[in-house]
Amino acid sequence: MTRVYNFSAGPAALPEEVLTQAQAEMLDWHGSGMSVMEMSHRGKEFMSIAAEAESDLRELMAVPTNYKVLFLQGGASSQFAMIPMNLIGRTGKADYFRTGSWSKKAIAEAKRFGDIRVAVDAEADGKFTSAPAAGEFEISKDAAYVHYTPNETIEGVEFGYVPETGEVPLAADMSSTILSRPIDVSRFGIIYAGAQKNIGPAGLTIVIVREDLIGNPIDHTPAMFDYKTHAGADSMYNTPPTYGWYLAGLVFKWLKGQGGLAGMAEINQRKATKLYQAIDNSGFYSNPVDPACRSWMNVPFTLANAELDAEFLKQAGEVDLKTLKGHRSVGGMRASIYNAMPEAGVDALIAFMAEFERKNG
Ligand code: PMP
Repeated sequence: MTRVYNFSAGPAALPEEVLTQAQAEMLDWHGSGMSVMEMSHRGKEFMSIAAEAESDLRELMAVPTNYKVLFLQGGASSQFAMIPMNLIGRTGKADYFRTGSWSKKAIAEAKRFGDIRVAVDAEADGKFTSAPAAGEFEISKDAAYVHYTPNETIEGVEFGYVPETGEVPLAADMSSTILSRPIDVSRFGIIYAGAQKNIGPAGLTIVIVREDLIGNPIDHTPAMFDYKTHAGADSMYNTPPTYGWYLAGLVFKWLKGQGGLAGMAEINQRKATKLYQAIDNSGFYSNPVDPACRSWMNVPFTLANAELDAEFLKQAGEVDLKTLKGHRSVGGMRASIYNAMPEAGVDALIAFMAEFERKNG
């Protein structure tokens, strides 16, 4: 068996130790004689898996007790609608930061539900290559919430700080940056993330929401889209994504073994720094993002000659460096280096890039 270095933006690589453990437990979880996939979500075995995963996530992120942690389905894209449905009712207005492809989608969906103001538009010459600096924006006093995308997965633009929004609750799409470093959860009203990058397999969506923001949905909000439904039922109102929840739990245990989020942050920063340095020090590769806003998780880069893109991908694949093709909207390459990408994978990519440049530069 050969395990490749998979630089996919998502679904993304999972820690090998987690996959090995899941494999060992596949047919018979802890003497139950069943796979986790086959268990009732209301049975004591799965309830224990669920509770332990939640408690490990709370510990990792130091989630304050006045926040609910929900294990949902529907992806981050469903949250684009659930957030306005649940939060906009107070004033009918919300502020959004427009910093890339995913925040654009969040804005488009929110517009169905109220008066959406773009507090910051970072688009310049049709591109997104920076995030606003602290203080470069003003929040409307009557916004029911402010939404931003801390890490734009496609453009590789990341906020290096948490925006200050005063009394206005802050909503964050952390799909591609959650668990990459410690954050102060109390700065946020709501955090959400699709699991398939830094948490576990696709199909699970995590929402961390402050309790006072639950329970005021707009009229006709379906039960499944009301946070209160899920918060009041420990995410078991209907059948939750049980296997994804279990695998997320294994990832949380793995993260604790890496020194938690502080340990992970050190590794992630080191991985990203060396890859950006390799790009910047070459005359052949380039990354268009403002150095102050470069993502630790998604590193887009282009080759000096785009006609070599296909050859780059082909030769990278031959040495087991896979899924490096950039998103079709920006072109070039993108290396997603989430928590589960070993530092050795980044080193191998850097070595390959240098060799490719030597032959083609
Ligand atoms: N937001 C961000 C920042 C993303 O990267 C993605 C997926 N790549 C999404 C939202 C959409 O997530 P999902 O596919 O889980 O709906």
